[in-house]
Amino acid sequence: MINENHEVIVHNSRESFNELKNGNARFLAGKSINTNYLEQIEQTKRGHEAHAVILSCMDARVPPEIIFDQGIGNVFVIRNAGNLEDENVIGSIEYTVRYSSAKLIVVMGHSHCGAVTGALNDIQHGHLSQLVEQIKPAIKTDKSSPHILTDTAKFSVLQTISDIKERSESISELLKEEKISIIGAYYEVETGEVFFFE
Ligand SMILES: [Zn+2]
Repeated sequence: MINENHEVIVHNSRESFNELKNGNARFLAGKSINTNYLEQIEQTKRGHEAHAVILSCMDARVPPEIIFDQGIGNVFVIRNAGNLEDENVIGSIEYTVRYSSAKLIVVMGHSHCGAVTGALNDIQHGHLSQLVEQIKPAIKTDKSSPHILTDTAKFSVLQTISDIKERSESISELLKEEKISIIGAYYEVETGEVFFFE
């Protein structure tokens, strides 16, 4: 919900999910409203109540604050190539749900992902090798299928969600207690639309 001061008010993970869904719909309709950045700086200068944490790819076409119309102060964003988890990423998520205000964890992959393409092509280079290695178990589609890139990006999101749950007792506890939720999403760079894995 957005009040008359343009502040996003969210009480639980369902409301957080709805806000992101509605935000993407506003963005798609060319009707983004959280673009009053100077006003938002004023509203958040003493703190914020960011309602979600989004683990997204670093791809320049996938900026979560813009595509979900969240502006400044409403979402935590963690980005790296391939939206993958590691110790630092998990620690960051734990911070947002334990010590701050996030109620929803979103892991978001996207179409035409370079990191996923790198895994499919088995690129070997410096630290990139281990990064694409982490994506490889998500390659479950036949190599000749035209859907292999899309499928692998989506399976990789599911794998990341499962790894986060498995590796973080802290996050798992909150999920079991239903204090937070975790959800996968897939962004189409061709259209600007976000599809949630419901
Ligand atoms: Zn990507």
